[in-house]
Amino acid sequence: MTIKIAVLPGDGIGPEIVAEALKVLDCLRSDFGLAVETEHALIGGAAYDAHGTPFPKETLELCRAADSILLGAVGGPKWEPLDYSLRPERGLLGLRSELELFSNLRPAVLYPQLVSASTLKPEVVAGLDIMIVRELTGGIYFGKPRGRRINEDGEREGYNTLVYSESEIRRIAHSAFQIARKRNRRLCSIDKANVLECTELWREVVIEVGKDYPDVALSHMYVDNAAMQLVRNPKQFDVMLTDNMFGDILSDCAAMLTGSIGMLPSASLAESGKGMYEPIHGSAPDIAGRGIANPIATILSLAMMLRYSFDEAVSAERIEKAVQTALDQGFRTADIVSEGTVEVGTAAMGDAIVTALRAV
Ligand code: NAD
Repeated sequence: MTIKIAVLPGDGIGPEIVAEALKVLDCLRSDFGLAVETEHALIGGAAYDAHGTPFPKETLELCRAADSILLGAVGGPKWEPLDYSLRPERGLLGLRSELELFSNLRPAVLYPQLVSASTLKPEVVAGLDIMIVRELTGGIYFGKPRGRRINEDGEREGYNTLVYSESEIRRIAHSAFQIARKRNRRLCSIDKANVLECTELWREVVIEVGKDYPDVALSHMYVDNAAMQLVRNPKQFDVMLTDNMFGDILSDCAAMLTGSIGMLPSASLAESGKGMYEPIHGSAPDIAGRGIANPIATILSLAMMLRYSFDEAVSAERIEKAVQTALDQGFRTADIVSEGTVEVGTAAMGDAIVTALRAV
């Protein structure tokens, strides 16, 4: 079966970093016989400029027909004055909800070569390997009622609703337990059950689902403590399960433990296993067009796609190993460069990884 990948480069550095991931994919196809085909579509600001919408119908159709999606990044100052409904980010949110990509996987892995890039002490972060599983299509970002109004005292008031149904909690909990099974079988569920009824239910349902996974050690932690523990002793975590907003915040915190935002991939999965894979960083308008962006997060997103959507663990490991080799050889983009290493641009980093891949 030929794997069909929809490629959405997006805005800013998106096209530059996606081009490097495609070099890696081409190498897997030509040298290792991976049966894969790609088709490109517009999303975000680029789609707005071409079609007047950040989320064209053709893009949705292509993504529906594809087996998985590789995305660069969207957004930039050029589109900030637009109405919310036309902003590049609406394209992403649209895709997540149309394809029901409810399970967001955000690994935070510290490569041994980059220990000095972390702001934390080496002994605290060396060997770090956490997976955050974040619920992506529910919670306070989507709950209704929401809005702004003038209250009885004539004051402006803003309000949002944190709401989760039992079934929404159940499906993300299953997703997290299954991932924990593929790792070190420890799952820490994050909530604020002491204050928020919604997360009290979250804890209750996670415990119920946990009965199906007696081989996974389940624990619970309040979100404020989790934030503290992530910077105090992050290696205590294996898989963390969070709702949408807590995961948004904690995963950025975990990402920074690893030193560079340019290294970290992510996956957003539907129940069918179909997924959208993208680097966790944005479109980096400050460095777009200069050929200096780090393509590794996007290349590792491709590895995640092969592992989680296509059960191609061998190809995924090949890519991960090639990244390690390029780092071992001392190649670094500007965001991760340090003394004794060689600074290279986006394309040269992609080339170094492809060369290492050929030699695997
Ligand atoms: P950002 O992640 O784009 O950039 C933050 C900093 O990290 C910048 O200094 C940037 O140069 C650097 N950086 C990011 N990726 C890098 C890479 N691969 N290599 C080297 N350096 C890198 O975040 P931001 O500046 O807050 O947002 C810029 C735009 O991206 C905004 O329009 C925002 O809405 C959008 N955004 C999009 C996504 C997405 O597409 N998933 C995610 C976050 C932000």
